[in-house]
Amino acid sequence: MQGQCPVCDGTIQVVDNVEISEVIKCQDCQNSLEVMAVDKDSQAITVKEAPKVEEDWGE
Ligand SMILES: [Zn+2]
Repeated sequence: MQGQCPVCDGTIQVVDNVEISEVIKCQDCQNSLEVMAVDKDSQAITVKEAPKVEEDWGE
């Protein structure tokens, strides 16, 4: 399976059993990407930039 990174336009390689809503990481720009759709026929995935969850909640 592969898809295209919306951030850097690089190609993303993922395992064939990747699931929708899974968060993967772009090997090129290291951004976290959420899987939006999986097309098993064309072996392609659609991803979007995942919301950053690196906030320090503090207190
Ligand atoms: Zn990227």
